[in-house]
Amino acid sequence: LGSSLRGTLDDLRGKSRLSEEDIEDIVKEIQRSLLQADVDVGLVQDLSDSIETRALEEEPPAGTTPRDWVLRIVYEELVDLVGESTELPLEEQTIMLAGLYGSGKTTTAAKMAWWFSTKGLRPAIIQTDTDRPGAYDQSKEMAERAEVDFYGDPDEDDPVKIARDGLEATENADVRIVDTAGRDGLNEELIEQIERIEQEVQPDRDLLVLDAAMGQSAKSQAADFEAAIGIDGVVITKLDGTAKGGGALAAVNETDSTIAFLGSGETVKDIERFEPSGFISRLLGMGDLKQLTERVERAMEETQEGDEEDWDPEDMLEGQFTLKDMRKQMQTMNNMGPLDQVMDMIPGLGGGLMDQLPDDAMDVTQERMRDFDVIMDSMTEEELENPRVVGQSRTRRICRGSGKPEERVRELLQQHKQMEQMLKQFQGMGDGDMERMMKQ
Ligand code: GDP
Ligand code: MG
Repeated sequence: LGSSLRGTLDDLRGKSRLSEEDIEDIVKEIQRSLLQADVDVGLVQDLSDSIETRALEEEPPAGTTPRDWVLRIVYEELVDLVGESTELPLEEQTIMLAGLYGSGKTTTAAKMAWWFSTKGLRPAIIQTDTDRPGAYDQSKEMAERAEVDFYGDPDEDDPVKIARDGLEATENADVRIVDTAGRDGLNEELIEQIERIEQEVQPDRDLLVLDAAMGQSAKSQAADFEAAIGIDGVVITKLDGTAKGGGALAAVNETDSTIAFLGSGETVKDIERFEPSGFISRLLGMGDLKQLTERVERAMEETQEGDEEDWDPEDMLEGQFTLKDMRKQMQTMNNMGPLDQVMDMIPGLGGGLMDQLPDDAMDVTQERMRDFDVIMDSMTEEELENPRVVGQSRTRRICRGSGKPEERVRELLQQHKQMEQMLKQFQGMGDGDMERMMKQ
């Protein structure tokens, strides 16, 4: 399946112009793959139209072959189709799971709890399923395996009361995940119950859990849950099977939401955050579409003046320097070379200026950079924007989440401070100062 798309793309190699027919061939192959992956026919048609229109109308940028350019368009449109990952700030929140019987809610609750615990947060599962015999035991056991807090009450048959008591009992948790009951089909009773639980819980996020094998019925199911409680994100489970999960895209489209997590197994660790490029590769059965399009990106970078999204060293010289800036800069370093070379690219800052700085200000080894990256994954938005708020207790939480020693976290903060100071020096420098420094 992927190989035929690959074959079609290979046939275009070396062509200096793509005909309408060439583009049709590619679009047909993509359609075939997507339909086989259960993607809704209407969505596939929209995608095809966009790709065709753009491929015929847009000129490849200088230095890019027509084949690479079409690939790029295909990739961009696919990213547009599958969407970005649901935003999930690493902070206190309550998440409620909804979905049909057997879709994987209880398993997902434990998986998500485990995932949040790896980020240094303290999760708790609240089990409100009073319908399914054994739901309590199943959930409790999974919570134990995930090593997270759990609340349930096997003797209570009012799910709303369990939810209320559960919120109270898990007050010390950072992230509360409320699991709900399902039914064989979506009926009045389920909808009414889940609405009542939702009103009691007032979750920050409602996630719809869908089995990857769920075909076209995902759409109407999603519409019903959307109407009842409002869906903020989708979790696709059982991607370890043969199903590719394309059906879920209709649900995403229907609820105007995004995909948060993917589940790929029965253990609590079989969870990953949704990420467009991996999912697209899976849908198309093709491994490296993103990598292929990176060539175009490089060519575009060379011909175009800085992209808005990209890190621009000049931005850094104005205003605040956050940990996010530092991270972007670290990533750029990986692509461009060390910071002193990057600084050389800034007009007016070139020359031997960097030689004036203490050597260790720039000394970030690869290994430390990797550690820093992992550590920053465990930090909250607030901490990344303003590292000054990170004190003892936050440092400990970040250590637990990242599995890195406290010393490393302090190194990261230290490094940030040094770079910030250095940049302040640059900011304070007029042209005259700069020349004087160069002469020295
Ligand atoms: P719920 O009824 O929505 O709470 O669904 P459960 O969490 O009880 O899951 C139903 C079945 O699907 C269980 O046997 C789970 O072990 C299984 N399951 C859930 N998620 C996955 C997954 O990602 N992969 C596989 N292979 N099985 C899963
Ligand atoms: Mg369940």
